[in-house]
Amino acid sequence: MQLPSDQAASGRTLGSEELANLTEVIESGTLTSTKGHFVKDLERDFAATMGSAAAIACASGSAAIHLAIAAIDPEPGDEIITTPITDIGGITPILFQGAIPVFADVDPITLNVTAETIAPHISERTRAIIVTHLFGNPVDMNEIMELADSEGIPVIEDCAQAFCASDHGRNVGTIGAIGCFSFQQGKHMTAGEGGIVITDNAQYARRMRLFVDKAWGYGDTNPDHYFLALNYRMTELQGAVLVAQLKKLAANIEARRRAAHRFVDGLDGVLGLTLPTERPNTEHVYWRIAVQVDETVIAGGVSALAQTLKELDIPAGPRYIQKPAFDCEVIRDQKTFGTSGWPFTLARPEAVAYDRDRYPGSYDGLAQVLVFPLNERYEDAHIDAVVEAVAKAVAELAIV
Ligand SMILES: *Cc1c(COP(=O)(O)O)cnc(C)c1O
Repeated sequence: MQLPSDQAASGRTLGSEELANLTEVIESGTLTSTKGHFVKDLERDFAATMGSAAAIACASGSAAIHLAIAAIDPEPGDEIITTPITDIGGITPILFQGAIPVFADVDPITLNVTAETIAPHISERTRAIIVTHLFGNPVDMNEIMELADSEGIPVIEDCAQAFCASDHGRNVGTIGAIGCFSFQQGKHMTAGEGGIVITDNAQYARRMRLFVDKAWGYGDTNPDHYFLALNYRMTELQGAVLVAQLKKLAANIEARRRAAHRFVDGLDGVLGLTLPTERPNTEHVYWRIAVQVDETVIAGGVSALAQTLKELDIPAGPRYIQKPAFDCEVIRDQKTFGTSGWPFTLARPEAVAYDRDRYPGSYDGLAQVLVFPLNERYEDAHIDAVVEAVAKAVAELAIV
């Protein structure tokens, strides 16, 4: 059975609504968000949907993280605690702003950071904590906010995979100081590329509004380029698509949740698999379905299971990313600005010590995770085909 793909029309809800908005933009001749209304509409509607005071659209999810770091405005060598198991676009903006990414380990099952893994990394130089709600599963925000508030450290939420995921009734992205989202092709809503940040903090909102547009003080009595910034603006073409996509978001999330629950119910009790669960009072929005594979029960573990599934025409990715971020050249070999290694040259040795034994959850979690693609166009029959193939493959590989 051909499964719908989020890289093409089969797995996306792009249609006449997006086309109508795009036609309006093209016919208007105004493709820049500085003059058009779609990006402004998107910002207003997105903030309202999430329940936050302000939203600022930008060019990508990486740009959204960069906006958040620029709002915090760290001094060179200040530290920002984050996760090694995420898209690198969630990490490199820290370095562009002259700060040091300090990696907290993750829980080996959820691959999410926890208050317990973050706490040992807090130092006098910690300026922010970034939490990533990986695969759409909210991190435990109560315990993390308690820790961060007690230290007076702002929390940035990377929600690129977690649109409308919630923890105790609140949407992720509105619990910490700033929430960051990506509209890249494979996310919950898309314009191919794009990003947005949300915040209730007026000062952060102001700095991010400036940072997205060369820090020029539009509308001020004596405008100037106030500080170092780039052009990270979203175009009206992206805004037009995203205004239409946002109206479909709730239904798309419902479809993903229904499909994921059918997957979990279908494989309930299969030995050797740890299926995704939802902590009490949270809603997981299933960007992907991440399953842990026990190699003492399933011969050959993740790779053998993925290979057997491939032969059955079912896609499943072993490891979510090849390796923890600190094992990538940019960080491991400090390939940053020329040959300087800056800003790592400013780091405390302790902050950049990536010894394997400090990160058991990251290594174990990556070695055991099998990631099943998912999108809003999965129907019951698609999930049933996946479930049947997984059950068959596990039975073949079972160590009895
Ligand atoms: C996709 C993603 C990003 C980066 O978004 P881009 O739009 O690709 O720049 C950052 N963090 C996470 C968790 C992501 O999934």
